[in-house]
Amino acid sequence: MTKKNAVGYTHKDYKMTKDFTLTILPGDGIGPEAMAEVRKVIAWLEENRGFNFTLHEDDIGGTAYDRYGVPLADETLEKCKTSDAVIMGSVGGPKWDEVEYDKRPEAGLLRLRKEMGLFANLRPALVFDALIDASTLKPEIVKGLDILIVRELTGGVYFGEPRGIEDLGNGQRRGVNTQVYETYEIERVGRVAFDLARKRSNHVTSCEKANVMESGKLWREDITALHAKESSDVTLEHMYADNCAMQLLRNPSQFDVIVTDNLFGDILSDAAAMLTGSLGMLPSASLGDAGKPGLYEPVHGSAPDIAGQSKANPLATILSFAMALRYSLSCGVEATEIEEAVQRVLNSGTRTPDIMAEGCTEVSTSAMGDALISELGV
Ligand code: NAD
Repeated sequence: MTKKNAVGYTHKDYKMTKDFTLTILPGDGIGPEAMAEVRKVIAWLEENRGFNFTLHEDDIGGTAYDRYGVPLADETLEKCKTSDAVIMGSVGGPKWDEVEYDKRPEAGLLRLRKEMGLFANLRPALVFDALIDASTLKPEIVKGLDILIVRELTGGVYFGEPRGIEDLGNGQRRGVNTQVYETYEIERVGRVAFDLARKRSNHVTSCEKANVMESGKLWREDITALHAKESSDVTLEHMYADNCAMQLLRNPSQFDVIVTDNLFGDILSDAAAMLTGSLGMLPSASLGDAGKPGLYEPVHGSAPDIAGQSKANPLATILSFAMALRYSLSCGVEATEIEEAVQRVLNSGTRTPDIMAEGCTEVSTSAMGDALISELGV
């Protein structure tokens, strides 16, 4: 019989070579505080799991603007493109509110996503048992919830042409945006969703508005054809996006992987995230073509209201790093180890202020990182 370790994997699941290059972009506000805790996990993996990381650290967002005059310098971008994965904190803050539009902190992030060719955004909505009361839904509705939303990130109405605001000359104006998708864009994000479903519960729900939008009709037809051609081993269901929004609130456990376009994904992923009840716990990943580096970042922003006060919850950034281990470095065993250690830390009642509850112990950002390391053990 093959021996399994504490998290149920055989030694064969461990990747043999563990030399990786990471670019670390702490960013603004609470980004650097949270990233300091990720560094503890990186050091733990080096000490205890045979990893060897080459780390490139650089600036993005407001801190990059202060240093380079732009929110993402060309040399930073080059480091990102040649790494195995990019781990980012968050960008933005009132200090840069008056900076010209194309140099604002968020412009650095948008450029990074575009230049890295990241077309699939992965947003897990996972309810930790210990935080079940933080959800606005009843515990019996969200218990054990584990959804992965795959949002198309580089096409659709946010980028389609024509776009703009036109003066009609009669005191009226017209605002125009264009929802446009081509088959290759639908197929590549669909393929990501089917691949991910195979590693989960093998079920994909594809969402659009095929009943009222031609781009939605094309989406449904292309996903159906892709499924028949390459992925008939995965269960596929189609759902109108508005019904999906209702079902997320009514019976979220019916979902495994949801794949949808840029606009619907933006909205549905925020709705699904809130089922879990806490912004400080939500990781994300953005992926491009196979073999290219992914970008991993928490869903939350730079939280200027608590920056520098040791109140930030570092777990969203740490869980984003765990996603990097799973999706870019093929080290799913260690990703699971980290996720399970997060569960145990929460079960023990250790809480940063954002997830504090009666009977629990409030800790600082760095004490939360230390608690996680101690749960990881050796
Ligand atoms: P935010 O996510 O920064 O903060 C919203 C609220 O959640 C705040 O009260 C904050 O204190 C709290 N919060 C967020 N993350 C937390 C954490 N890890 N631990 C504890 N509490 C946490 O959103 P915002 O206030 O709307 O935006 C602040 C800045 O961040 C803006 O400049 C915005 O443009 C930027 N932003 C950046 C990103 C990104 O980098 N991807 C995403 C969203 C917002």
